[in-house]
Amino acid sequence: MYDTSILKEQLANPKQVGVLMHARPDADALGTSLALALFLREQGHSVHVIAPTEYPAFLSWLPGVDTVIVAAHYTQDALLAQMQDIDLLFCVDFSALSRLDEWVYLLKQSDVFKIIIDHHIEPENFADLLLWDPQAAASAEVLFQIFEGLEQKEKITPAIATCLYAGLVTDTNSFKNPNTRAITHRIAADLIEYGVDTFNVQRLIYDNKSLSRLHFFSFAVSQRLVVLSPLHVAYFVIQKEDYKRYDLKSGDTEGLVDYALSLKDISLAAVLKEKDDTVYLSLRSVGDLPANLIAKKYFNGGGHKNAAGGVSHLSLVETVDRFEKILQEFCL
Ligand code: 5GP
Ligand code: MN
Repeated sequence: MYDTSILKEQLANPKQVGVLMHARPDADALGTSLALALFLREQGHSVHVIAPTEYPAFLSWLPGVDTVIVAAHYTQDALLAQMQDIDLLFCVDFSALSRLDEWVYLLKQSDVFKIIIDHHIEPENFADLLLWDPQAAASAEVLFQIFEGLEQKEKITPAIATCLYAGLVTDTNSFKNPNTRAITHRIAADLIEYGVDTFNVQRLIYDNKSLSRLHFFSFAVSQRLVVLSPLHVAYFVIQKEDYKRYDLKSGDTEGLVDYALSLKDISLAAVLKEKDDTVYLSLRSVGDLPANLIAKKYFNGGGHKNAAGGVSHLSLVETVDRFEKILQEFCL
């Protein structure tokens, strides 16, 4: 249980609250931010939810998503003017400034009280209050326990429960990942009691693909998958042209990495995605192989032991080459 006394004080009177998530938000970042926003609005606060970059198109059904401000669509002046109005700022599902990309100025130029709600290891010291648990499967789990600490669980509406459940389901990969604890299931059970339609949420997240996205997965599995059996590694290399060819929207490669991981005897799976001048890496591992160390040491990233990500500013070909060399250190 979190000590929520400081939070209680901060929320004692109506405020203009900012809720900032990380760039390229996933369902946990977006769902937890929206759950927090819905909760705070019920308490009479005004809430501005900010995503540095576009959220995944497949999550556009989440309750309250239409209120999200995508920073990439606005000028710096317009955003800073909006930040002037904010007198309390939550940072959701990240605790490393690098996860804000160039929009880190939004945080740095704001001198209001800042609260982190997160579950990533090694949080940086930029907030006034850290509500954080690296054992938590998702930030949604942390926020649920904050509601408990505030003794306001009964304020969880079906819409809030839906947003939290979306974060919980995706960060645990439908309760399959080893980060899934007994408490994770207990929270999921509570969320069902608070009105989430779990079947519907799972369908909307996993079984809601466009035909073009399904064709892309098929193409990627047949043409873009590299399997290094002796190293127990399988990875996809997705080129810029592939995005165009299959009309991929933001978030449309999500879940692809799991096909590489679904192969027998694979300990490390990855997707290397070429976008503009950057290559984004998504890593998944099994057991003790530390995906987050690979991401941190070589790709300016991080994450959890079994699910991590990072970036490379080399060309796609050079990044693949470097990635294969790095595997010798971790996978032999
Ligand atoms: P995904 O592969 O789903 O994009 O990311 C998996 C996990 O890796 C995320 O939940 C997050 O913890 C971490 N992650 C992804 N990208 C980055 C990054 O650029 N920097 C850091 N520090 N962590 C990342
Ligand atoms: Mn998360």
